[in-house]
Amino acid sequence: MSVPKTGITALVPPELIFACGGVPFDVNNVIPASKKYPGNKLCAWTAIWKEMLINREIQVNSLVVVAGGDCHNALVDGQKVAMSGLTTHFFFYPFDGDHEYMESQLYRLSDFLGGIRYPERFREIRDMKRLGQEVDRKRGCGKISPGEAFSILVSSSDLRSDPCMFERAIEAIREGDFELNNRVALIGVPPIYHDFHETAQSLGLQIVFDELPYEFIRHGGVDIKEIARSYCNYTFARPLGLRINFLRKELEKRKVDGVIHYTQFACHHMLEDEVMRKELDYPVLTIQGDLPGSTPQQIKLRLEAFREMLERL
Ligand code: SF4
Repeated sequence: MSVPKTGITALVPPELIFACGGVPFDVNNVIPASKKYPGNKLCAWTAIWKEMLINREIQVNSLVVVAGGDCHNALVDGQKVAMSGLTTHFFFYPFDGDHEYMESQLYRLSDFLGGIRYPERFREIRDMKRLGQEVDRKRGCGKISPGEAFSILVSSSDLRSDPCMFERAIEAIREGDFELNNRVALIGVPPIYHDFHETAQSLGLQIVFDELPYEFIRHGGVDIKEIARSYCNYTFARPLGLRINFLRKELEKRKVDGVIHYTQFACHHMLEDEVMRKELDYPVLTIQGDLPGSTPQQIKLRLEAFREMLERL
């Protein structure tokens, strides 16, 4: 019997999907390398996955849309996919962090997925995420390149649909000694450019923190109660003040010299930029992307100017 593949539009606990006998597939992960330019769009991320799902260019058996939490465009584009006939479930995070509400959402998700059949998978995924945390730690000490670390972290939203493949990808990382002379944090949603980390590194900026991918590896648990208590602190779905306090601690811990705030065209998170600039006590470079592809020349020039500015401080 083939294993049902469940598309996810943002962070949805992958451990629960595996424990229910399915495999998660993060529909965002195909976008940076895609050459799709959707006609009718606001944010390119949701517009592209919407189009690919409706045209069945992404093959999944069902879809879980994070409708309450980190993305308002997904709520609408997710409904368009549902109208095309794909079985779709809408998942909500609690803005106030209520873990009982989170628990009820996890039970509803579990029912949608057919119930928990393999509880042992919770521990297996927890162990994989620990390996991911170790990759993040080593990147911060210059043992792993920012690009390789990002590739692991960002794919931990669905563990590449296969925890064994995820583990092998970690084992295949070549460790070395990477210079960390301009340590920067990348906050906001991940860049839509497939080569952003390598580009920043080639221009003398080393990304030692990826805000959203770090959320993917830091949450987990071995049963629904534990998962609820962890994921109800998913910072992107909570009030800005909580997210900023969390960021302050992480940036301090990682001794960053500056912050790059990546924003996406037509994404409401852009509105957070002025708050981040005011509240984070670091030099901040704000950039905005739109369509997938390589990092544009204009952004490269801005990265270069930012590095020069950091070096003058
Ligand atoms: S960039 Fe913003 S609008 Fe686009 S998918 Fe992410 S959260 Fe949603």
